[in-house]
Amino acid sequence: MKASSGSLSERTVERLREGVTRVDDRPPLVVRSPFTDERVGAVPACQPADVAAAAERARAAQEAWAARPIEERAGVLQRFADRAIEAREELLDVVQLEAGKARLDAHVELLDVVLTADYYARRGPTHLDAARRAGGIPLLTTAVERHDPVGLVGLIEPWNYPLTLAISDMLPALLAGNGAILKPAEATPFCALRAVELLTEAGVPEDLVQVVTGEGPTLGEPLVSNVDHVTFTGSTETGRTVAALAGEHLVDASMELGGKNAAVVLGDADISQAVRGLVHGCFANAGQLCISFERIYVEEGLYDDFISEFVDATEALTLGASLDFAADVGSLIGQHQLDTVEDHVADARERGATVETGGRRREDVGPLFYAPTVLTDLPEDATAACEETFGPVVSVTPVADADEAVVRTNDTPYGLHASVWTDDTDRGEALARRIETGSVSVNDAFLGMWAATDAPMGGVGDSGIGRRHGGDGIRKYTETQTVATQRVHPLAPVDGVPNRVAAVATTYGIRALRRLRRFSPLERE
Ligand code: NAD
Repeated sequence: MKASSGSLSERTVERLREGVTRVDDRPPLVVRSPFTDERVGAVPACQPADVAAAAERARAAQEAWAARPIEERAGVLQRFADRAIEAREELLDVVQLEAGKARLDAHVELLDVVLTADYYARRGPTHLDAARRAGGIPLLTTAVERHDPVGLVGLIEPWNYPLTLAISDMLPALLAGNGAILKPAEATPFCALRAVELLTEAGVPEDLVQVVTGEGPTLGEPLVSNVDHVTFTGSTETGRTVAALAGEHLVDASMELGGKNAAVVLGDADISQAVRGLVHGCFANAGQLCISFERIYVEEGLYDDFISEFVDATEALTLGASLDFAADVGSLIGQHQLDTVEDHVADARERGATVETGGRRREDVGPLFYAPTVLTDLPEDATAACEETFGPVVSVTPVADADEAVVRTNDTPYGLHASVWTDDTDRGEALARRIETGSVSVNDAFLGMWAATDAPMGGVGDSGIGRRHGGDGIRKYTETQTVATQRVHPLAPVDGVPNRVAAVATTYGIRALRRLRRFSPLERE
């Protein structure tokens, strides 16, 4: 597959289209490159019957997959990581073509997929190990907790990280022994299809992973009603719809949603490091990143120096639409995203904010490019201060002290990610504990947190339900079963012993048991 012409070859498009499950001819859903608005290719706009067929096929393949030793499934994940590295150039081309991002941002997606596959191949089995739990009555009862695959996992994914989000959340589901149905975003199906091809090349059995392409509102209900767990990543608004569907069908769900992330720069921070980290933290993927920053609070003493260095560093960023590593910042994904960014900046201007840099389209680079933008004097009730922009726009605001920074950081219904910059990491970690988000980075924007695959990440409040990564990120794809075995006598009324006597005896028994537990070294551990 070569994409140097700025498009995928007809043969590649045709081959990848074959990876979409459908039971009939479907109208085409055209995918366009954000860089040029040229047609990349088309995929079928699947219908509910296609989702039902996908579920049937994946379920038929799942049982045999779950019966294979987990070490074999882990081996498939490792081979997938190898295949992804081998195929990196073409994967980066497809990510850039579909999502319009800078190649370095596409490369981060590749790294994530490889690291996640490697992590779950190595550590996933341990997260699912059977665990002995304390029995109801010491010595007489044993209890063992086990994790079985739920069966079929549905994944509804957005366009902003089309490789990472299509695959990285699926890998633990597969390792746990599940089948999967993936519904990629309308704008970015080819990344998902190519990655699923690589999974098949790595040894994922035929039919275990199904891909349905098409419109979310058409496929959402059939998908949720046909699976045993749904993982949704996308906007909070759509997340509410999907969560309601999951509630209606009593299907377990995890929701990775939007954010309005803030960074706090304390007075003792190293300005250059904070600027370097936050320029990347705000403008990576042209700000279309759930954990990027749209607000920065800087302690007053440092504010003037910070804003001057930050604006200079922002202006030094290069924009570009080529399939190489030349540019720092890529395009917005579509007209709707550009409209949102323009609306937020126009509203900020009307309310008296200062545009320190940016604040304009860059049609000279491509139809959907927007200059990285820094706002100051942004009123607290401005749209860009309250709502997720999901674009290259950040406001910088001075604060009197760390306490005010915490109050303002927490003043949002979202709670996804934050960062704290300080010379004193103990102080930074203590401040992080006061911030109401699922993750906080100290002296880093987000990459170190994201790359800590062993640690769960996700959002609180309007930013989501559930976690990806770590043990939480795989156990959510399992049903927990407890097997409790009574060694001597069932815990049931004993013939000939009156209930009143049994009640008195068990009350004394419970007292003795509590005392025993209090003094038992095992319990104190
Ligand atoms: P979106 O909610 O518009 O779409 C996400 C997915 O949902 C797409 O596949 C879409 O087709 C599907 N969808 C749309 N309507 C649906 C419906 N009624 N039923 C079922 N599915 C439906 O989001 P987007 O614009 O693609 O992505 C941007 C948003 O995603 C931002 O808010 C961003 O913060 C969020 N996001 C969150 C994370 C995270 O990990 N928390 C990661 C990436 C993006």
